[in-house]
Formats: sequence, structure tokens, C-alpha cells
Amino acid sequence: MDIFAAKIPGRPLLSFEFFPPKTPIGEVRFWEALTLLARFRPDFISVTYGAGGGDRANTGRLVCAVQERLNLTAMPHLTCIGEERTNLESLLDHYEQQDITHIMALRGDRPPGSPPEALARGAFDSAAALTAFIRKRHPRLRIGVACYPEVHPEAASREADLAYYRRKIEAGADFAITQFFYDNTAYTRFVDDTHAHGVTAPVIPGIMPVTDFKQIQRFSALCGAELPEWLVTQFEKVKEDPVATLEIGVAVAVAQCRDLLDRGAPGLHFFTLNRAEAVGRILDALHLAPA
Ligand SMILES: Cc1cc2nc3c(=O)[nH]c(=O)nc-3n(C[C@H](O)[C@H](O)[C@H](O)COP(=O)(O)OP(=O)(O)OC[C@H]3O[C@@H](n4cnc5c(N)ncnc54)[C@H](O)[C@@H]3O)c2cc1C
Repeated sequence: MDIFAAKIPGRPLLSFEFFPPKTPIGEVRFWEALTLLARFRPDFISVTYGAGGGDRANTGRLVCAVQERLNLTAMPHLTCIGEERTNLESLLDHYEQQDITHIMALRGDRPPGSPPEALARGAFDSAAALTAFIRKRHPRLRIGVACYPEVHPEAASREADLAYYRRKIEAGADFAITQFFYDNTAYTRFVDDTHAHGVTAPVIPGIMPVTDFKQIQRFSALCGAELPEWLVTQFEKVKEDPVATLEIGVAVAVAQCRDLLDRGAPGLHFFTLNRAEAVGRILDALHLAPA
């Protein structure tokens, strides 16, 4: 099964990213949000792995439960930093046995304060190496990788980042999902540059609706995503008003998604942060609920 071949005809690919909750109440909210968003019949949902200190064991449990309970394609993320080969092998074998068809292959971030050598402590030190390993051992799995329209903070240069992205695709990745961004010209430029490098794998833009501007400032400081001046100005004006922030956040995301689709983006991948309201309103405004 391939998500692009199986998607709802005439609609852009639609996907939602969740993180594994850490508490029982978080788990209730996870299922509530997912159930509310299921009415959009996403082409897949994905569940992060270890991001922000999340419990890694929960990723596998949740993706299998999502496929079984909601009959949706669920894609686990998998990071290789600090992971032994045997752990990766048993997890991947388990996923194939559980009819998982897609996997997001990532390196992951070094724990804060750890030295660069920490990357070498696992079996693989990069997403390219992990991708090659998965492709060889599980030829039927479809593999997604991350990409960075505004360049990964560790990249030596924009050109080096692009060249390395090409290596990930050549190692066997089928598609890419971007880091979040708010300047759509960065997306177009990245896609044009990949084409110039002879790489044509679909690049799905990652959309991060703003519902809490302080939180987005923290995330962008960590991952290097730019916050354009026009965006900062709008949200600074309403920083004490969560209702107005949500309204502006929805309007900004609707405009961003419309423009991305006009620019030819093959789909939209929403970082939901396990909440349904903003994403649901954005998709309603875009008329992306299936008939
Ligand atoms: C859509 C998406 C989902 C994510 N999900 C998770 C998750 O579930 N869990 C989690 O912990 N993190 C997640 N992340 C964050 C990700 O782990 C970090 O961005 C991490 O710093 C890099 O991971 P990567 O797979 O892009 O690494 P890589 O692609 O291996 O490398 C990152 C960058 O380092 C440089 N680089 C690495 N190796 C080389 C090389 N050999 N030569 C030249 N340059 C090199 C390149 O600039 C490259 O873009 C996600 C990110 C995105 C965009």
C-alpha cells in the first residue's frame, strides 16, 4: 500500500502528526483529538518517537491501536540516535508483523548538553544510514524522511544540506515531510532546488498552526525555523489573549495552506500537538472534509 496511490482522488494528501502522551489524561485527550480529526479521513496519521522525552515504547503501541481501532494508516516515527541495531531490528520486525506499511526514518536530536560524539553511540549516526538499513531489510516498507526548507541548524551550508537530503532519498526514502516554516517561498525554493539536484520525491509541507505563540517561539529557537516579522507583529499584539491568538493562528494557517496548494504542494501534514480544534477549523475553511 502506498499512501499517494491510495489517497482520496482529487484531494491533496492529508496527514496528522501526534505525540505519545505521558499520562492517562493525556492518553484520553490523544484519542479524543484523533477521533475528532478522523472525520477528515486522513491518508495517514503519524506518531513521534522519543521527541521531547516522550516514552518510546508508546509509539509502537499507539500506531498499532490506531490502525486497529480507527482503520487509519498509522506511521510510526523511528529515531536511530543511541539505538542498538538489535532494538531497531526487533521493532521493525514487529511493525511488519502488525501490518505497518509506512515508517518515518529519523536521526533524532542529541540529548541537551551531550557531546557530538553521542551520535556515534548507536548503530547508525544518521537518517541516511537508518534509511538504507530499513530499505535493505524491509523492502516493502514505505519510508518517509525529514527535510528542512530553512536548512537544518547543524548543516554546514544550504548546499551541504541539499546534498545530504539527496543521499537520504537515494538510500531508499519514498517521500519527505518538512520541518515547519511560515515563509512559503522557503518551501518552493527547497522543492525547486531538489529538482535541480535530480530529486523528485514528494515533499509534504509540515504545518504548525500557532495556538500558543510563546510555545512556537521556543520550538523555532530549537529547530531553526524562521518567524517572519509580519508573523511576530501579529501575535505580539494579542499575546495576552488566547482567543484572539487562536483566531489569528487559524487564519494564518488557512492562508498558508491555500498558498502552498496553489504552489503545487502534494499534501499537508499537520503537527497537531494532540489537539483537534485549530486543525479541524483550518480544514473546514479549506473544504478538505471528504463529501
Ligand atoms: C517531520 C519531522 C518529524 C520529526 N519527528 C521526530 C520524532 O518523532 N522524534 C524525534 O526525536 N525527532 C523528530 N524530528 C526532529 C529530528 O530528529 C531532528 O530535526 C534531528 O536534528 C535531525 O533528524 P534527521 O532525521 O533530519 O537527521 P539527518 O537527516 O541524519 O541529519 C540532520 C542534518 O544534519 C546534517 N547531516 C547529518 N549527517 C550528515 C552528513 N553525513 N553529511 C552532511 N550533513 C549531514 C544535514 O544538514 C541534515 O539535514 C522530526 C523532524 C521533522 C522535520
